[in-house]
Order: sequence, then C-alpha cells, then structure tokens
Amino acid sequence: MGLKPMEVGVFLSSLGIGDRIQAVAKAKELGFLAIQTPPLSADWRTGAKKADLVQAIKDAGLYVSAVCAGFEGESYADIPTVQRTVGYVDAATVDERVQATIEYGDLAVELDSPVVTTHIGFVPEDQDDPVYARQLDATRRVCDGLAEKGLLFGLETGQEEALPQRRFIEAVARPNLKVNFDPANMILYGKQKPVEALEILRDYVFHVHCKDGRWPTEEGKLGTEVPLGEGEVDIPAYVAKLKEIGYTNVLTIEREGGSSRIPDVRQAKALLERLRDQG
Ligand code: MG
Repeated sequence: MGLKPMEVGVFLSSLGIGDRIQAVAKAKELGFLAIQTPPLSADWRTGAKKADLVQAIKDAGLYVSAVCAGFEGESYADIPTVQRTVGYVDAATVDERVQATIEYGDLAVELDSPVVTTHIGFVPEDQDDPVYARQLDATRRVCDGLAEKGLLFGLETGQEEALPQRRFIEAVARPNLKVNFDPANMILYGKQKPVEALEILRDYVFHVHCKDGRWPTEEGKLGTEVPLGEGEVDIPAYVAKLKEIGYTNVLTIEREGGSSRIPDVRQAKALLERLRDQG
C-alpha cells in the first residue's frame, strides 16, 4: 500500500459530511492517505452511487484500511438500546444482517480493502444464553462468507471486556476473525482501561480506532465521547502500547460527536503524528 507504519487515517463519517464524495475530497484535502468507510445506506453501498464512491476514492488515491458495516434499525442512544438493537442479537434480523455484512465484503474487494469491521452487539457472558449461540453462529457465517472473498472480519471492541471477547473469538475459531480495537468504547461502555484491554487482545488486533472519551457517570448511560487527547483514554499511553505490541497498521481517527469535527480531526491528526514519530 506504500504507507508508512502507523499512517494516520480517518473514519470517513467523522468529518461530519453527509455526501460521501465530498467527504472523500475533504479527507484528501486534510492530507490523509488512508480512510475507513462508514456504514452506508443502500444507494451508496449497492445502488446507483456506489460506482461513483469507489471511483472518487480511487481518484483521490486513498487507501481504505477497513470497510465498516452497520445495519438499519441500530441505535446507540443508551446502553439498553444498544443491547437490544445493535449487531447479531435479534433472531428476527440476524440472517439479513449476516447477509449484509458479507455484501459489504463486495465493496471491500472493489476498494482493495483487507477487512470488514462491525459491532456484533453485546456478547452475553453466560454461554448458555441463546443470544450467545446466535452471535457465535452468525460470526462464523460472516467469517466464512468473507473468507471466500479473501477478507478478514474485524470485531469492534468495547461492548464487553477484553477477556470475554477474546474467549468468544477463540470459540468462533476462524483464522480470519480479528479485532478492530476502539480504546474509547472500553470507557464509554464503562468496561475496562483501554491499555489493559489492548494487552489481552493483542494477538487479534488488526485495525484500530483512535477515539477518546470519559467514563459514564450514570447507570445505563454511555460515557461522553470527546476530541482526541481531551478524554480519559490516555492517548500517549495508547500509542506507546500499540508500538509495544508491534502494531504497524493505520491509526484511524474516529470522532462521533461535537460541532467542530474538522478542527477536531485536524488536531487529532497532529497529535497522533507527533506521538507516532517520537522515540
Ligand atoms: Mg469505533
């Protein structure tokens, strides 16, 4: 791909620009060489606008470090809502979501991206819970469908602690199952210190988000996502830990909130480049 180790990239939706083509142009203008594509509506993903999006990314010379899948009907309003609506937890939607994830793989192939990532939803700690069996089966089907296209599948972290997540990955037992590590989610969901979690998942981390946040202060509520470097992740310690585990793939900036996305992303890029380049 011709990028330096730990190239700093951006999650396309973090720019706060609804038109995907304009967002691609903005990413390039900001000096990025790598992006992660966000969950896309059907027109961008499989419909009329797909070819334009692929062409715009190729024309801009951007490397797509990951393709993120998301599904209709998901909501991140608060923890119980996430639990109910996100990922492969509901028997009524699991089959269509497995299919959709595998379809995102077609986009990844067109974009020469190695991995599709997603949230599969809260994995129950009780392995006798029917939701656990459903997620296990769904994840295997997605892994197998993506393997046929030569792709990896990356689980986003943070909705459970790292050790149960690692056990789940080992139970799925598919060599193309990896982790998209998000340090802020560990905090936003009130789960675990990110650097500790990274140590536990180190063998499975293929791609990472660089996002910051503050711990929840109210039961059932998520913590607060904030600009990179202003939260409780400890970004210098996070980048140092990534170096220690030998991570060389893209550092993808993610910014979900706020009303000054572009300045926040610019500031995050400068911070990460400085931390990356210092001894
Ligand atoms: Mg993330």
